[in-house]
Amino acid sequence: MIMQRGRVVIVGAGQAGGWVAKALRDNGYRGPISLIGNESYPPYERPPLSKGILSGEVDTPSTYIWTRDQLEELGIDLRLSVEVERVSCSSKMVSLSSGEAIHYEKLVLATGGAPRALSIPGTDLKNVNMLRDINDAVRIRENINSGKSLVVIGGGWIGLEVAASAKKMGVDVTVIEASDRLCSRAAPSALSDYLIKKHGDNGVEVMLLSNASALTGVDEVSGLKLSNGKTVAAGAVVIGIGITPNTGLAKMAGLEVDDGILVDDFGRTSDRDILAAGDVARHHNPYSGGSVRLESWENAQNQAIAVAEVICGAPRPYNYVPWFWSDQYENNIQVVGFPDDKYQQVVRGSAGSSGSVRFYIENGIVRGAFAIDAGRDIKITKRLIQNSVRVDSNLLSDPESKLQRLIA
Ligand SMILES: Cc1cc2nc3c(=O)[nH]c(=O)nc-3n(C[C@H](O)[C@H](O)[C@H](O)COP(=O)(O)OP(=O)(O)OC[C@H]3O[C@@H](n4cnc5c(N)ncnc54)[C@H](O)[C@@H]3O)c2cc1C
Repeated sequence: MIMQRGRVVIVGAGQAGGWVAKALRDNGYRGPISLIGNESYPPYERPPLSKGILSGEVDTPSTYIWTRDQLEELGIDLRLSVEVERVSCSSKMVSLSSGEAIHYEKLVLATGGAPRALSIPGTDLKNVNMLRDINDAVRIRENINSGKSLVVIGGGWIGLEVAASAKKMGVDVTVIEASDRLCSRAAPSALSDYLIKKHGDNGVEVMLLSNASALTGVDEVSGLKLSNGKTVAAGAVVIGIGITPNTGLAKMAGLEVDDGILVDDFGRTSDRDILAAGDVARHHNPYSGGSVRLESWENAQNQAIAVAEVICGAPRPYNYVPWFWSDQYENNIQVVGFPDDKYQQVVRGSAGSSGSVRFYIENGIVRGAFAIDAGRDIKITKRLIQNSVRVDSNLLSDPESKLQRLIA
């Protein structure tokens, strides 16, 4: 389909924003496209930030999804280090921090999220960091390289990846978590059990049910006080307590927002000419039975492509089974669907060991799973969930039986 239309403006030149632009061209969109981002880098992938970039194993340009030249060749007007400050739905204009105003026919908000702030004294001390962008990762690496002990506040996915990377670099690491288990918001308890054992085995001290009350030090951070009166020495700190979606522009524009910009099955917001994708968008997911705001690499890419297809006049409902991975130490952890403690559990392989999969089953149908170093099984499980295949638990739990047979 070849289209010549008005300008599409994309706010946020991150993973989702970049993919909207690229997928518009892939789908034959010939009209002008402006991709506007407030960072100085072209669209890049964030997963390496807590892994290879932090440890220094990979360099910054390797995270770029496309270079500036590649985007220019596609005729994409890429504007970096510029903030979109205002959206006017009535005049269909965006106002930029550079003083310019741009008219759009369709607007895509792909503004991602910002690390949630921790309101305790001392967060302004030197060597206290949060991790969202390349500059943060480089700064944390410099802190760690100077041999400082690291305290990670927040035992979620990003905090744990930082802990694993720092530990591999030979630093003393303590993880402080307020809840009674790790990754409690996004993982079933068997996975939390695996994670705490993994980090303990690697020499990380994990303190559960611990609330940070103040960071201490003179100019530089030197310690953390907990609300139970304990103190922990800290040469550097990473705060990783989740993100809040960047919904400011959407709210200002009068769009419907509720922990994310509300979008329909096609990524459309409450204004018919404005769409949203990636970490900032909240959509209905048929596999969860409710609305979700997914913070994952796969969602940022696929939802962006779905939004581009809608703009190009080839709409497809966006209804994926969620999937994400995390790399910690030598292990690759993958989670698919919605594994929940309320479901029946069946383990394939030796529970919590490399090569194992734990399935979460409701009335004979797999709703979710997690795997340690078993990505191939997770791919098949995704199809089981997608097709609501009724499964035989004996077959699932038998590592000798081929999962593939269940979807044949
Ligand atoms: C450290 C880290 C590790 C991760 N690891 C994994 C992993 O292992 N597996 C996995 O599945 N997912 C992982 N993720 C999640 C994944 O990277 C995100 O889900 C994905 O980056 C979301 O893409 P996005 O485009 O929606 O948001 P972002 O990538 O955050 O992009 C949004 C962009 O919009 C910009 N912006 C915001 N407001 C404006 C404005 N008004 N004007 C101009 N620009 C604006 C922001 O600065 C940003 O550059 C990780 C994320 C992080 C931070």
